[in-house]
Amino acid sequence: MRAVDKGVAPRAYLNYTDAKPDLFDRIGPYCAYCEMPVRDLGYVDHVHPLANGGQRLAWENLLPSCFFCNRVKWNRNTDRSQHLWPDIDNTDLAFEYGKAYIVRPIRTLTRAQNQAANNLIQLTGISRTAANSTRKDRRWKNRQEAWRKAEAMYAAWQTQQNRPGLLIAIPEIAESTGFFSIWMSVFKDETNLRDAIRRKFPNTFEQSDSNGKRVKRLHALI
Ligand SMILES: [Zn+2]
Repeated sequence: MRAVDKGVAPRAYLNYTDAKPDLFDRIGPYCAYCEMPVRDLGYVDHVHPLANGGQRLAWENLLPSCFFCNRVKWNRNTDRSQHLWPDIDNTDLAFEYGKAYIVRPIRTLTRAQNQAANNLIQLTGISRTAANSTRKDRRWKNRQEAWRKAEAMYAAWQTQQNRPGLLIAIPEIAESTGFFSIWMSVFKDETNLRDAIRRKFPNTFEQSDSNGKRVKRLHALI
């Protein structure tokens, strides 16, 4: 799951939905949980739900979300504890993506991190497939399409032909298709291409310290 840095609040809001364009500008028009492109149809998710005491207008409590992640999550988390979150944790280090299993915690996590990673998967339903999704919830279908496109682009890349052209085209396709983590997984050994894709997804948080160790943010579990 892409880790993001929203930065400081760009302004004060009278209505939380007014934060949507700012969230999209800061971290791109993608669901912060399933990574599906949402563009103008996105929702503003209260990470700590309003019903459980979360702040309505605080920038720190808002993430862009698709309808389904927002709806499945609902009021089920009482606060931010015991879950990983893409705006606090290095979530890209916590999950792995694969065609067969979709998304799962990586094996080297501590027990607490593993539990928190699983809790976020359960909370949002991001690993649901055709078998356990509602008819309207097509996240699995869009994810499948992203895999297909990323793998087709990878095959083209592997032919070694027209690499300068593909280095421009593939990040453009990734940007419109969304599902950042799928592109990062398929192109895991292609550093230049990964960098070019990453530049299309603003404020992806992958900050390292001077020893090359990833910076852990305040309150982060990973
Ligand atoms: Zn989503």
